[in-house]
Amino acid sequence: MGRIAVVTGGTRGIGRAICEALRENGMTVVANYAGNDEKARAFTEETGIPAYKFDVGEHEATLEGCAKIAEEVGPIDVLVNNAGITRDGVLAKMSFDDWNDVMRINLGGCFNMAKACFPGMRERKWGRIVNIGSINGQAGQYGQVNYAAAKSGIHGFTKALAQEGARSGITVNAIAPGYIDTDMVAAVPENVLEKIVAKIPVGRLGQASEIARGVAFFASDEGAFVTGSTLSINGGQHMY
Ligand code: NDP
Repeated sequence: MGRIAVVTGGTRGIGRAICEALRENGMTVVANYAGNDEKARAFTEETGIPAYKFDVGEHEATLEGCAKIAEEVGPIDVLVNNAGITRDGVLAKMSFDDWNDVMRINLGGCFNMAKACFPGMRERKWGRIVNIGSINGQAGQYGQVNYAAAKSGIHGFTKALAQEGARSGITVNAIAPGYIDTDMVAAVPENVLEKIVAKIPVGRLGQASEIARGVAFFASDEGAFVTGSTLSINGGQHMY
């Protein structure tokens, strides 16, 4: 059956590409999603990968969702914290809800999933956790104090948890994607996107599969000596 991997937000975009890459590497893969049942159904029909619906920003729901996965599929060996949202706006116009939703889901989701998965990994003395950060958590971005703070937090979370897992065969790493061609970036107005692409040295958006290759490496047995590390995959847009 191979290792069991759970990818949050795995039914679309980068998460979907990660699910496919891990499965190609022989893992049994499970996706999670929040609410878009139609996309989740199409994803499962097309890939055969099951999708479990729960909000990773909700602590109890996440513990229950992971317990259900463990019962129905098996113990979780690989956790990819990919689920994320944006609620952009300048600080003056950003509501507390816009701040709180992004912190709760993007950063709180990593904590909730790790609480569910880390103890079992420690008992079994093997685990891989890969957190999806962002170039905007490294460099900041106008109109994104919520998103940049949550993503920057993911990088600190990664380095702290890496220290806790090291002696138990658990690696914890992060990927900081640049601008990738997904629904999230499709929501950016075209004139803004043109200006963004003009600043990417390789001259194009990234593909979801290019992020997935990095995750597959971190999740592999061969990645055992790599922990607490952040891999930037951004076409040279931000060299960190
Ligand atoms: P998409 O918006 O295309 O997909 C988001 C996925 O996350 C969906 O499956 C969605 O489920 C799921 N999701 C959202 N909220 C929750 C939640 N509360 N609980 C569980 N699942 C949830 O995103 P991308 O593929 O573009 O982005 C994936 C990750 O990569 C995010 O963390 C994002 O911040 C990060 N990233 C993306 C970049 C880009 O350029 N696209 C750049 C840098 C980082 P549903 O379908 O049900 O809504």
